[in-house]
Amino acid sequence: MAHFPEAKFIVSAWQPQQFPPDAGAEVAFVGRSNAGKSSALNAITGRRDLARTSKTPGRTQLINFFGLREGERLADLPGYGYAKVPVAMQQHWRVLMEQYVESRTSLAGLILIIDARREVTDFDWQMLEWTRSRSLATHLLLTKSDKLSRSEALNSLRKARTRTAGFATAQLFSAVTKTGLDEARGCVLAMLAGNWEAQGEAGGGAG
Ligand code: GDP
Repeated sequence: MAHFPEAKFIVSAWQPQQFPPDAGAEVAFVGRSNAGKSSALNAITGRRDLARTSKTPGRTQLINFFGLREGERLADLPGYGYAKVPVAMQQHWRVLMEQYVESRTSLAGLILIIDARREVTDFDWQMLEWTRSRSLATHLLLTKSDKLSRSEALNSLRKARTRTAGFATAQLFSAVTKTGLDEARGCVLAMLAGNWEAQGEAGGGAG
């Protein structure tokens, strides 16, 4: 499966006016802080510097856009769930996320990063509600699966699939062992090509 060697940083956006032109296709990554989003981005793109860019102080609360092939982008959405973030910042996050998910025409799919050992949070559900309301292709990456036994991991997967049946797909993933890496890349490519829905209906996102 191809990496994304051409991936390069475009811009960090604090508000919609700073987003790159809304043309072509874009896949967004989002998740609770520390869930493993940067590690997943690194593994999927094969480019360590992408997620490092997003972790640069001052950029962690922004949407960081990366260009892939012509007309294709990844958007790294700010992590959520830090209790220490001031209320005003949390509100800004909420407004920015809602504006992005609801109005971004080129948004072709969303990859929701969830630590396989943890419960789905309120923030995760909020994201799922937004993607569901616009029927956006949504895929759960249950990360750090290497930290679970095989049966625990499968249990986590079964639970996630049951709870999101009909509007999202899910898979196990580990940036450490590369479990599910090809599948995750395949998902991003299919979303960019606009045909993830079909895979989802065919039971895509297996194991
Ligand atoms: P982010 O805040 O969501 O971008 O999370 P990071 O990618 O920075 O990961 C948070 C922590 O979890 C780091 O210490 C990573 O090394 C660790 N981590 C991320 N993915 C995995 C994984 O698949 N397996 C294991 N064992 N650790 C992981």
